[in-house]
Amino acid sequence: MRALALDMGGTHIGCGVVNEDRLLANTSIDAEGASSLADLLPVVTDALRALLLEANTTAKECVGVAIGFPGIVDACHGTIHSTLKKYEDAPKLDLAAWAREALDLPLRIENDARMALMGEQYAGAGRGVENIVMMTLGTGIGTAAILNGRVVRGVHGHAGCLGGHLTVKFEGRPCHCGNVGCAEAEASGWSMPQVARAWPGFPESALAKLEPLGFRELFTHAERGDTVACDVRERCLRVWAANAVSLVHAYDPDLVILGGGVMQSPEPVLTFVREYINTHTWSSWGKPQVQAAALGNMAALLGAVPLLTEEMHGASIKLQ
Ligand SMILES: [Zn+2]
Repeated sequence: MRALALDMGGTHIGCGVVNEDRLLANTSIDAEGASSLADLLPVVTDALRALLLEANTTAKECVGVAIGFPGIVDACHGTIHSTLKKYEDAPKLDLAAWAREALDLPLRIENDARMALMGEQYAGAGRGVENIVMMTLGTGIGTAAILNGRVVRGVHGHAGCLGGHLTVKFEGRPCHCGNVGCAEAEASGWSMPQVARAWPGFPESALAKLEPLGFRELFTHAERGDTVACDVRERCLRVWAANAVSLVHAYDPDLVILGGGVMQSPEPVLTFVREYINTHTWSSWGKPQVQAAALGNMAALLGAVPLLTEEMHGASIKLQ
């Protein structure tokens, strides 16, 4: 079973052609600074058509298009309900019509973190596990949960995917979402540079010369012994670990998967979060496993087949 997949991230759009749990071809479109999704759709269409050629297949051989979107979506009806500082025009677009007209294919949309977890369960670190929580540490903090083998969505589509907006510091930094002190507002790709710049001694730190400042730079300079980098890294680790404990307490998983750009080098994040969970969770049965994502930034693309074939409200997508 083949499918087309899109992963609309904060800085790029991942595009792929998949066959079951394998990626046949993929590419990435730069979306840094792009605010309008409508402007990007023709580029996306061209990229998907080129990938179909590269994969030596046709749209007719695919079951549909699956989109992972960084916002609140209604997966059952294929609509986008709410965005957060990215692709603000998306709720007004008829993406199903775009898929039909551009590719003659049906469409399903899911929150990007949920689709990444669906990919990891189908083809990666979560194979064979029925109760999983995943945290995707990137520009924001995406989360998702699968309980008893079913993706958790909730009546309004909010459940599981807003875990990055759980409060870790109630007098903390304001977040785009309206809350204060969310994990995302305290330790994500967009908030970490603000935290670092406000840190005592920042002007003397090697980090002060870096623009842009990302986790790669932060971790590199922490390893070199830069005091501010060490302190900010430690704070990020504690925020992610505290957030993970809250997710474990909320969802009772057997497995916690850590993914996203930060996990391209899993240590020291993996060991820190694992030990923190082992120390700080209340559990009657043992402790959940903590593993790094196995599929890297391809996880959401590989969630395409499980998303397109999932039965929702008693109906699977109308396959052609
Ligand atoms: Zn928030």
